Amino acid sequence: MDQTIYVAKNCQRCQASGTITLRFLNRVDETVDCPACKGKGVVPVLEPATECPRCKGSGRGDGSCGVCRYCGGRGWALSEMSIEARV
Ligand SMILES: [Zn+2]
Ligand SMILES: [Zn+2]
Repeated sequence: MDQTIYVAKNCQRCQASGTITLRFLNRVDETVDCPACKGKGVVPVLEPATECPRCKGSGRGDGSCGVCRYCGGRGWALSEMSIEARV
């Protein structure tokens, strides 16, 4: 029986802190749960863990807010959530 194995890897979007700071022009900064890892600080990555080829694992790209659109800022390829997002 095939078994899919995930490993928990540090989320690059929030630097594994679980929160990100949103900056607004007219308002004070707001700290929210990281949308990439849902506040966990780590993301499930399919074994063998592979850095996102688009952003080279940095999580930064040309998407909104400078976040890599391919991995959503997680920095890892083929995470569980990115698979869901593609369906
Ligand atoms: Zn995160
Ligand atoms: Zn990426």
